[in-house]
Amino acid sequence: MKKSERALRQAIIDKCRWMNAGGLNQGTSGNISARWGGDMLITPSATPYDSMTPEMIARMPLEGEYGSWEGPLKPSTEWRFHLDIMRARPDVGGIVHTHSTFATVLAIAGKGIPSCHYMIAAFGGNDVRCAAYARYGTKELSEHALKALEGRHACLLANHGMIATGGSLDKAMWLAVELETIARQYYHTLLIGGPVLLSDAAIEETRKGFSTYGLQDRVEAA
Ligand code: 13P
Ligand code: ZN
Repeated sequence: MKKSERALRQAIIDKCRWMNAGGLNQGTSGNISARWGGDMLITPSATPYDSMTPEMIARMPLEGEYGSWEGPLKPSTEWRFHLDIMRARPDVGGIVHTHSTFATVLAIAGKGIPSCHYMIAAFGGNDVRCAAYARYGTKELSEHALKALEGRHACLLANHGMIATGGSLDKAMWLAVELETIARQYYHTLLIGGPVLLSDAAIEETRKGFSTYGLQDRVEAA
């Protein structure tokens, strides 16, 4: 294995541990993937992050036989939406899926997040949608997620959790943190009468500013 591939595999594991240590995710819920040339590297299914090693990360071709993989352990049960997002969105280099509490609370209520804070613009538009429910690991869930992600970098998954994408793994994790934060803020606003929403024009103006603000995309070179 190339040194750079091993480093990316280790970066995936580090992000998994980081998101659990900070409370963004818990247990073996959630999964992370990163683009590696024509392949996708993805966490194995149901494996504690503390005992995960670079060799355990599964490798799946983006083209070729759908669902084929290499590695000692089965890839995440959510490989379909990770793979389908990477195939449909060449700009995506990293994907983070978590069951973070406030994003999931809103998703359980079937609520997307409206333009309640200017940071909504970081997700690509004036809202973050909630994808319709389908059982975890299914093609149907992947289709719902892709639809909710149209023109967006993140979405909620009804009765399940959230997905954040980025040009790099760092950017995807940055957005995952921002998504959980805005979800928490929106949730609390609902308790005191609901938000005052920003106009589409205000969000669009902010969105343009994000091309030079925040963590900039840096795609890992294979
Ligand atoms: P895996 O352990 O298979 O990645 O599944 C976790 C999960 O979040 C399923 O939606
Ligand atoms: Zn999940």
